[in-house]
Amino acid sequence: MIVLSVNAGSSSLKFQAFDMPEENVLISGTFERIGMKESFYTIKLNGEKIKKEVELKNHEKAFEILIEELLENKIVEKLDEIKAIGHRIVQGGPYFDKTAEMTDENMKKVKELSSLAPLHNPAAITGIKAAKNVVPNALQTGVFDTAFHQTIEDENYLYPVPFEWCEKYKVRKYGFHGTSHKYVAYRMNEILGRYNTKLITCHIGNGASIAAIKEGQCINTSMGLTPNAGLMMGSRCGDIDATVVTYMMQQLECTAEEMDTILNKQSGLLGISGVSSDSRDIEDGMKIGNPRCTLAQQMFTRRIIDHIAKYFVELGGCDAIVFTAGIGENSVHTRREVLDGLAALGIKIDEEANDCRGVERLITTEDSSIPCYIIPTNEELMIARDTYLLYQSKEKEKELVENEII
Ligand code: AMP
Repeated sequence: MIVLSVNAGSSSLKFQAFDMPEENVLISGTFERIGMKESFYTIKLNGEKIKKEVELKNHEKAFEILIEELLENKIVEKLDEIKAIGHRIVQGGPYFDKTAEMTDENMKKVKELSSLAPLHNPAAITGIKAAKNVVPNALQTGVFDTAFHQTIEDENYLYPVPFEWCEKYKVRKYGFHGTSHKYVAYRMNEILGRYNTKLITCHIGNGASIAAIKEGQCINTSMGLTPNAGLMMGSRCGDIDATVVTYMMQQLECTAEEMDTILNKQSGLLGISGVSSDSRDIEDGMKIGNPRCTLAQQMFTRRIIDHIAKYFVELGGCDAIVFTAGIGENSVHTRREVLDGLAALGIKIDEEANDCRGVERLITTEDSSIPCYIIPTNEELMIARDTYLLYQSKEKEKELVENEII
């Protein structure tokens, strides 16, 4: 059965088509510069990558082309073969603790949450509407970045601010990257061969977050109301003293919006190094002796170490630590610094094993107190899995209704 995974951004749309339940990727691609000049898309099929320049007026046009490509490349012969489409949605707020069908009522809730994710939720709604128009008979699901973190208890998700802020304005920790944390935690448990585990999963990419997971359920995570909380990131500051914001707004005489841009786009590795938000550039800067790059990297790893140590205590021990995403999977240097910084916990890096990129691997020695792994993330597959499961349960429900069992 064909399931599409879709990730719509404000001017982009990424997709992968899976044959489920075998989980084979049949075709994947990205539409870029939607609604802008010089729009184009790339398709990956049978190990080949093709780029086509075409006018993409809106997301619906991108979706129409996506479907044409599926038909032309004989991924499907008829549209009816696409049974379900899973959409990544960044902010599910307090409403969604699991993947849900995108009914009109649920779409309204996603729209209502747009003020908490102004760049992401409106784009997802546009993507879902486009998919509904082009493939009306498919089940459309929303897979939320925040859903996995809904098991966090109130003492961890509330901020120590006036209580009504949460009740009236929905101000609380939601956490993000949930689909990725869930995927690598599931895979880690498969490797360990048991599910009653305590795991710390580190999704370290341009955006970065850490989660503490007990028996498959998230008990804490580093991101908050928005993805600019917790760790220092490529260009985001993460946790800082809240008064820095109001003080600097007065000093710079800037608006809330301008301050938001500074804290999201001009801070983190970029803000400290003055060079780049990309960890590869920071590593290159360190190699040529740039002290600000060295400082940025030290601050970056310091915060990862602190969060892992905090979650070790909160979990009451830990069965495995996982590194994933761009930096977690690829930066030998960052992993080494983090694991060296955790030596007090008895963690011992295996330098030879750590010298790798993008592969699933144990990177600590046999006598390390906690085994640490690299597990490449696969959010698209997780979206397809969840969507397939929801499709199956809906079909089962229909069958029971038809047979008048319920
Ligand atoms: P992501 O947001 O998960 O796509 O991760 C993107 C980040 O991964 C980039 O900004 C880079 O900083 C980092 N990255 C990718 N490849 C490498 C590498 N070979 N070495 C260090 N960092 C890398």
